[in-house]
Amino acid sequence: MKERIRISEIFGPTIQGEGPLIGRPTVFVRTGGCDYRCHWCDTLYAVLPEFRNEWTLMTPAEILAQVERLAGSVPVLVSLSGGNPALQPLARLIALGRQRGYSFALETQGSVPQPWFAALEWLMLSPKPPSSGMATDWQALDDCVAAGASGPRCVVKVAVFDDDDYAYARLVANHYPALPVYLQVGNPAPLTTHAGPGSEEADIDDLMRRFRWLVDKVAADRWFTATVMPQLGRALGYDVWIAANDRGRVHDGEPLSAGCLDCLPESIEMGSGAESIRLIDVLWLNRETTRVIAAFEVEHTTSIYSGIVRMLDLALSSDMHAIDGLFLVAPDAREEEVRTQLRRPAFSRVADLQVRFLPYSELTRHRDAIARFGTGLKGVHAVSRIL
Ligand code: SF4
Repeated sequence: MKERIRISEIFGPTIQGEGPLIGRPTVFVRTGGCDYRCHWCDTLYAVLPEFRNEWTLMTPAEILAQVERLAGSVPVLVSLSGGNPALQPLARLIALGRQRGYSFALETQGSVPQPWFAALEWLMLSPKPPSSGMATDWQALDDCVAAGASGPRCVVKVAVFDDDDYAYARLVANHYPALPVYLQVGNPAPLTTHAGPGSEEADIDDLMRRFRWLVDKVAADRWFTATVMPQLGRALGYDVWIAANDRGRVHDGEPLSAGCLDCLPESIEMGSGAESIRLIDVLWLNRETTRVIAAFEVEHTTSIYSGIVRMLDLALSSDMHAIDGLFLVAPDAREEEVRTQLRRPAFSRVADLQVRFLPYSELTRHRDAIARFGTGLKGVHAVSRIL
């Protein structure tokens, strides 16, 4: 029987947002399943069994083919992530990829050692501190370090939320004096649970406060061998898509599409609703996962009916739970017209989608507050209302 790997998602190229490879272009291969349940896990969709039906069993060759498609056949760093990727049989994938020039970095909490760690370029062990609610199996962690001793560059990365976590990080550093230690500020507002509750946007100001706190602690302790890192991936914001038929329009001397995506991700372009989705006025997409986070239809005088149909096409052709906001933006006076349209039997499923009405008056009044277009939906949610 062919060896299959449980995959949650494959996406990229994007940049690595964490650890020693921060800023490096990479394609992520995220496996499904984890033996931990950290309180602040930000990828529950790759952990919890209830998401199992979203995972795909793939052969190493199928995974590599998808990586090659995404990378345009240019060998790139492949980041193996999870869940806990050490639970999956990854030896063949790594061997196949390395034959074709790809390099592999794997991040795991260090609870399951594997002999094939030796074939990686990078082994990032991220044992979980007390705030995770998990207890470290030091023997397993030792075995992981030993399994990676002959090949990859091995580093330890610890997320630090509070003083107890910081003390734990020092303990880890003392236990492995030969390994470089990376400290990373913990983010209490998980971004990518795509399961609804908990899929909050990052609070960048809060993250910066936490980062300064950690820097001050490390400096005060004269802990000069540690590397303190922000979570770049949390601060990246969203990519923006402007409707195909609006891309040439000019605003303030610049095309509306300046700085926006030139094409939609393959997962949308190859889907059945692509024609319609391309015409949605504005889409925000998560830069790491390329998932659509929010969609905006601006209906100044145009048909509200068509806008709702495009939203439905988007929602029904993708994972509805992944989309945090569907917004109809229109003059205040059109709100009743919008509500009347939505009461039509044809739109009975729209209630499930939690489409929101964003009136011009609120948009104008709070424009500055939500001007962080691309750094979160909180502001837009606050000034819109469910239809
Ligand atoms: S080990 Fe990682 S993937 Fe698993 S529950 Fe903890 S944070 Fe989530």
